[in-house]
Order: sequence, then structure tokens, then C-alpha cells
Amino acid sequence: MSDRDGKIWFDGQLIDWRDAKIHVLSHSLHYGLSVFEGVRAYDTELGTAIFRLPEHTRRLLNSAKIFQMKVPFDAATLEEAQKAVVRENGLKSCYLRPLIWLGDDKLGVSPRGVKVHVMIAAWPWGAYLGEDGINKGIRVKTSSYTRHHVNVSMVRAKAGGHYINSILANNEALADGYDEAMLLDTEGYVSEGSGENLFIVKQGKLYTPDLASCLDGITRDSILTIARNLGIEAREKRITRDEVYCADEAFFTGTAAEVTPIRELDNRVIGEGTRGPITTKLQTAFFDVVKGKDPAYRHWLQPVNA
Ligand code: PMP
Repeated sequence: MSDRDGKIWFDGQLIDWRDAKIHVLSHSLHYGLSVFEGVRAYDTELGTAIFRLPEHTRRLLNSAKIFQMKVPFDAATLEEAQKAVVRENGLKSCYLRPLIWLGDDKLGVSPRGVKVHVMIAAWPWGAYLGEDGINKGIRVKTSSYTRHHVNVSMVRAKAGGHYINSILANNEALADGYDEAMLLDTEGYVSEGSGENLFIVKQGKLYTPDLASCLDGITRDSILTIARNLGIEAREKRITRDEVYCADEAFFTGTAAEVTPIRELDNRVIGEGTRGPITTKLQTAFFDVVKGKDPAYRHWLQPVNA
């Protein structure tokens, strides 16, 4: 990905994509402490617009706060920078990746005295779990790896090191012929996917695991809001893996994954084994919202040219 035209925002400057490099002795590369976001901009009725930009930027800065990383830029600067990256790269719709990491001033576990850096890149990225996945649903495996415990890693943070656990789970699922993993928490309840939150539908009601070990997903929050506004009862609660087997419908949510139906878990067909009616309703509503077609949610869109 490194050798291409374009601009990357790097510590306050837009620089050439291929010049956005760091040293091999960077602290984050050795000990895994970085925090990041995944954000999407859509081609909307208002022009290109970033979905829930303030919420993503707030989560990014909160992730940094949790790990006591002193970020040399405020939220307003980072929001403007994200808009500038989309604009300057001439992108109509894209995925954005803001990253905060520790520099190469010294090694040793303590990050004291190590400079905090920030970069923002953006590039086109289609359906994360495939177009077929969006339309027909994916096959998921319960992971043999457990999701983070709340007092081992700080799960409110979206931190680079957390994704070692996601990679283990995702590698295992793909190697076994599935499309994605579902991880359980340390007590054996459903937590989330390797990069997505999970929902089930049972008798017309929507359920998602409460915010213990899973990420406080912005798409999760959007779906809960959209569902309630559509009159669909939506609750956060503990969910067991056999509740997912017996659900009428299930789906993943995430900035990258958007709304992706789950048609099978551990070789048990969920519902009819296709994208169910409530999933379809919520997925359609979600795509209308992100594309600016629903005026009630325009406040979730920040046009990059405004
Ligand atoms: N859980 C994990 C582990 C993730 O990586 C993501 C993607 N950021 C999500 C959930 C979904 O979060 P969001 O909807 O904010 O992208």
C-alpha cells in the first residue's frame, strides 16, 4: 500500500503518500501501543460526507486518554484534517484510518519521553466481508480464543495491540473455511467479531451484547438508534452462543463491515439461512442514512467541503 500517489496527513502536514514513513525502532512497533479509528466517507446527497466524524474523533482521543498518550492535536484539528485528507485525495467515498502512535525516541516499556505522532490516511475500500456477504450473509465460527477481559486490556479503547487477539481468531476462522470469527468473553458469553459488533433478532426484537468486553461500536449505536426509531424493540443483554444458533436472524455491524448478515454459526443455519426481513430493513435504512437519503439523520454526516 505504500507506493502510490496521494497525500497522508502526518503530524499536522499533508505529505506525499510514499514519503509517510517511520523508523523500525518506533516504540509502537515493538510493544504494540497505538490507538486508531476506522471511519467511512460516503458519496451522499450532500456531496462527499464523513459518517459520525465527531463520534469517531472522540473515541480516538478517549482511546489515547486511556493509555495516557498526550495527543498534540485537539478534536477540531483532527476533524478538519480528516476532511482535508478526503478532499485532497479527490475521494468520493472511502475508508479513513487515523492512527496515533509512539515514535522512535527510545525503547523500553515505559513510553515516557517518547513523542506521540498522528497520521490520517484514506483510500477506497468496498464491502469488508464481500458484496456477497452483504447480500447473502456469511458463515461464522465461534473462536477458540477468548475476547479481552475488561481488566486485562482496556476494551473501551480501540488500540493496535488489541488486534492480536482479533488476528488469532480471524486466522483460525478463515483457515477452517469460515468467513469470520465470533469471540466469547472470559465468562463464555458472546462478545463480538474480530472487527465487528454482533446483533441477533428473536421474535421481532433486536438484541446485542452489553458493553462489557466488546468495543463501543459507532455502527452498533447507529443501528440501535435506527431500530428504535423504526419501532423495533432493541435491548443490550448477555447473549449465549446457543441463543445465536436459535436466533431468527443475526448480523455483524462495523464501519468496515457495515451491516453484514450472518447465515451460519458453527455449521448451524440461522433462521432461513439468508438475510432476514429485519436485517434487510435495518441494512436498507442504514445505507439510506449513510448516503444522506434520510433527512432525519443528516446531522450524522459531515460534508468534507463544508
Ligand atoms: N468491534 C471491533 C473489535 C472492531 O474492530 C470494530 C471496528 N471498529 C467494531 C467492533 C465496530 O465498531 P464501529 O462500528 O465503531 O466501526
